[in-house]
Amino acid sequence: MTKRPSPISATVDFAVDGVQHGYLKLPISNDESAWGAVMIPVAVIKNGEGPTALLTGGNHGDEYEGITALLKLASELEAEDIRGRVIIVPTMNAPAAQAGKRTSPLDGGNLNRSFPGDPDGSVTEQIADYFTRELVPLADVVLDLHSGGSTLDIVPFAASHHLEDKALQRRALEGAIAFGAPTAMLMFELDATKLFDTAVESQGKVFVATELGGGGTTTPERLAITERGIENFLIHFGLMEGEVTPPAEPQVYVDMPDASCYVQSEHSGLLELTVALGERVAKGQLIARVYDLTRTGATPVEYHAGRDGMLVARRFPARVNMGDTIAVIAEVVDRLEA
Ligand SMILES: [Zn+2]
Repeated sequence: MTKRPSPISATVDFAVDGVQHGYLKLPISNDESAWGAVMIPVAVIKNGEGPTALLTGGNHGDEYEGITALLKLASELEAEDIRGRVIIVPTMNAPAAQAGKRTSPLDGGNLNRSFPGDPDGSVTEQIADYFTRELVPLADVVLDLHSGGSTLDIVPFAASHHLEDKALQRRALEGAIAFGAPTAMLMFELDATKLFDTAVESQGKVFVATELGGGGTTTPERLAITERGIENFLIHFGLMEGEVTPPAEPQVYVDMPDASCYVQSEHSGLLELTVALGERVAKGQLIARVYDLTRTGATPVEYHAGRDGMLVARRFPARVNMGDTIAVIAEVVDRLEA
């Protein structure tokens, strides 16, 4: 069955040269607004013929490194700075971002678990559908800026995925390396089926994902990495003039070959990480203790590294519940093979 057209309309014209700021408008009707609309800010910067880059942040609403950098870029970028077209959506899940949450307050939707989306689904599924069927087809390359949000802290990295299309995997990996974060990664997803990533890659488009910090805030260092990375991405794919700026230290390559990279808590309590983010760990090394907050004299539960590698992500809040990811340990490799 063919899907009906997306109910979302854009107030910008993607075919017009120059700088436009507008909205992607999705009609809604609820207690607060009978004839209302979800308004997703969008900027289009176009200068003649050339490739199209789609730059997205706020896929999760509490991941502020990408949101901040894209709001800045959208305000500063001028048409003569680029060749082709840059489409900037700083807050893909605008209701979530405006509420300071990972998921939408309108329907509880996690946008990055809602792809390819549905024009007749929930608000979040309707947003996903618009990206899948309207914006991604316009793009040659997509950069989706994530970070750990409120519950994770992650070493800044750009990543591509293991793909069946090896030529596409190579182009994406080269883009991830060119982003110039301290770390570059070939990423294993716990479940890729409903990700934006998969919606883009299945259309044969280059997709680079990033994780750029977390904790529900930004730092000057991480924002600088994000801003430089976006510029590097645009240079690498031919939308901007200039040379890619590499990271100050030699880039560290990591691989996440399987699910053993993820350490998840089987207990609830108070978390003590015994290794710092970015630190190298050996298989079997103590990495965390979880304490019972309800009594003294109890022995904390210990968690150990399941593999050699680098601590690339950690739970950010000290309170931990069963099932929470405590740590992610990625394998450090000499080079990334695409
Ligand atoms: Zn995210």
